[in-house]
This record gives sequence, structure tokens and C-alpha cells, in this order.
Amino acid sequence: MEKKSVSTVTNCHICNILNNGILDKSINGWLIDHYSGEHIEPLSIAALTNRFNEQLLQYYFLKKHPNIDSTFDFEVLREYLQEVYLDNDDHVDSKLFFMGNSIIKHFELDPIYLATRLVAPHSMQHHLQNCLEIRQDKLSSEESIPVKFLQATEFAHKILQSPLDVAINNGLASVDTQIVIYVKDMETGEMLPIKEWVMKISKKGGI
Ligand SMILES: [Zn+2]
Repeated sequence: MEKKSVSTVTNCHICNILNNGILDKSINGWLIDHYSGEHIEPLSIAALTNRFNEQLLQYYFLKKHPNIDSTFDFEVLREYLQEVYLDNDDHVDSKLFFMGNSIIKHFELDPIYLATRLVAPHSMQHHLQNCLEIRQDKLSSEESIPVKFLQATEFAHKILQSPLDVAINNGLASVDTQIVIYVKDMETGEMLPIKEWVMKISKKGGI
């Protein structure tokens, strides 16, 4: 697949990062390969966003400390910033919190500055689909994603029913207890019941 040239004036967060030389434009080739799945197993938009953000953090780290070895895993720093500063997660894993906080303190990094530099999955989706104009080839040939989700949800309910029955029989849950699986929506951050979420993604077209 050929790379599209990207104009310099853009409303795309990721294009701006590349045009400003913060990350090298060659990363587009990597994104194309790993999103299209033409040559390798495709990665999800969330996974691509995470790897991209880790590269960004590496850039900002080197900018601040050009002569210091980072000695830590940028994935840990990225997860920490995301959970503590962006998701406002109530249940941050204590080990992650400790590790992330130690990195920030030790290297005197500004967590808010770094957290606000990170790109969101919907920016990545926009960049992949509109700027690079790539689609995941594998998806169209396989069974549709909504169908897969609905089948998996049905299966999950089936296997959850038996321990729930035990809980009900032991008086730990009332007879009208329902199990609902939620998915965090990447655009709004809202927790949606999986069936509602599947409806939402299937309306987006293409899948
Ligand atoms: Zn772009």
C-alpha cells in the first residue's frame, strides 16, 4: 500500500505531531502495516494509540533529559498518566501508581503536561482512516464484528449463569439479579452495556 502525502496545514492531531517533527513521519509506514494487517497480524486502534503515545513520551523525556538513560518502561509511564490524569480511574492499580509516581518524581517530569500531550484513540482512528486512508482488510473478509460480539456476549452470559445460580441459591444474590457486561466507549468515555455499544459501532458503517 502506498503512503499518501500529508498536507502541512491540518486539523489532525497526529499529522501535526509528525509535521512538527516531534515524531518521524516514517511512523506512518509502521501504522499502515500494523493497522491494515496486510503483512502481519493487525493491531487494534487502541494498541496503535498506546504504542504511538509511548513514542511521544520517549520524545518528551529525551527533550528534558537528553543525556540520561530512561531506565524505565514507557508503557508503565503511559498507563500511569492515562489512568491517573486522563481516565480519572477510581481504582488505579497500587503497583502501577507506585511505579508511575516514582518515575515522575525521580526524573522530575510534569505529569499534567505529559498527559495532555497524549493522543486519543479517536484521533488515531481519524488519522488512519482519513489521512492515510487505510482500512483493515482482514475485517471485511471475516464475519462481521457486531455478530462476533453478540455471539461472545451470549456465551459469556451462559457461563456466568451457573455461578450466579449458585449465588442465588446461597442467598448471596436475589433471584432477579442480572449480569450486564459494559464496554467503555472510546469517544465519550461512557460505560455502555455491550449490546448498546455493539449497536453504536455497527451504525458507524463499514462493519
Ligand atoms: Zn492525520
